[in-house]
Amino acid sequence: MNDFLKLHTANAVAQIEGYTPGEQPSDGNWVKLNTNEFPYPPSPKVREAILDELGGDGAKLRLYPDPISKNLRSKIGKFFGLSAENVIAGNGSDDILNLAVRAFSDPDKPILSLDPSYSLYPVLAKIQNSEFIELPFGDSMDIPFEKISSSRANIFFFTNPNAPTGVGFSKSDVERILNEFGGLVLVDEAYAPFAEFSASELVDKYPNLIVAGTTSKGWGLAGMRIGWGLANPDIINILDRVRDSYNLDRLAQAAGMAAFSDNEYYGNLCGIIKDTRDKTELFFESVGWKYFKSSSNFILVTPKNKNGKSGRDVADEFFKYLKSIKILVRYFPNCPAVCDSVRISVGTPEQMILLQNAVKDWISL
Ligand code: PMP
Repeated sequence: MNDFLKLHTANAVAQIEGYTPGEQPSDGNWVKLNTNEFPYPPSPKVREAILDELGGDGAKLRLYPDPISKNLRSKIGKFFGLSAENVIAGNGSDDILNLAVRAFSDPDKPILSLDPSYSLYPVLAKIQNSEFIELPFGDSMDIPFEKISSSRANIFFFTNPNAPTGVGFSKSDVERILNEFGGLVLVDEAYAPFAEFSASELVDKYPNLIVAGTTSKGWGLAGMRIGWGLANPDIINILDRVRDSYNLDRLAQAAGMAAFSDNEYYGNLCGIIKDTRDKTELFFESVGWKYFKSSSNFILVTPKNKNGKSGRDVADEFFKYLKSIKILVRYFPNCPAVCDSVRISVGTPEQMILLQNAVKDWISL
């Protein structure tokens, strides 16, 4: 950082490193299993809606979009059995996480999550000058309930299903946290379309709950940036105060409306993804690689080389091997809790066959 910036950058920002997103290669020749995107195109209704919004000459783009994404909020609310007043729409769910931290963080109280979890949370907390605390899961991914409830934190980010392990937690686990933790609980449900349970059904019951969701994983729209927060209207009102005035553009609003109009399409494809996931897990079992049973569209697996060894170096070697044959997965070398593993997004059945063949080749090299 140069002298000028040293003098003028906010202290909190000078001390952090930004979040590092997964690699997005610019050429298309990859089996891309690194950022948990939906492996199928979005509903054809989405494309139609975007073209419709554009019109023949794109003239509508001259006009600002609806600042509050009113129709989209109603549509999302309806999908989850809630009213529009329970919904805020965001520029991806990262936007919602950011709004929650901006609105509710307190420099005198820490923000809490479990380890491992989504690595954006500490970045958001530190930008707002909040201390960030990570509590480790117990063996077998047990939730440390007592430590959560006795913490001084005023916001708890609970990723369900967890990232990067993919492990899903039950309604009773989430309700226990909501009842025992004294602050705001943000349940990050980016991967809920592949799980058995969504805390959206608890929004009316718990005034300390925000559920964050996204079309990036379960609706094939990571490129459109559409997310939401579900909460009681008083919380939504607070989040709205810190939101960018026009946080969703016209095309995103149109795309989101269309996506939530084709539940049959997405229901089918999420079913196929779950089936592909379960079959891929059986494959890992057959080669004796450990993995967490996933409730998501990815699997965290610990590679074992032909000598039966696993660990950070082995994971690194496997990651590089896959990369050399143009299969991209995610590897977290700097995260001690999972640095012996790689996270593999569930792609199409064809992509998973390519992956399985690569595993077999690597083991026998
Ligand atoms: N939460 C979790 C746990 C995630 O893995 C991601 C994607 N990286 C997000 C939220 C954000 O997703 P998006 O901003 O694309 O909606």
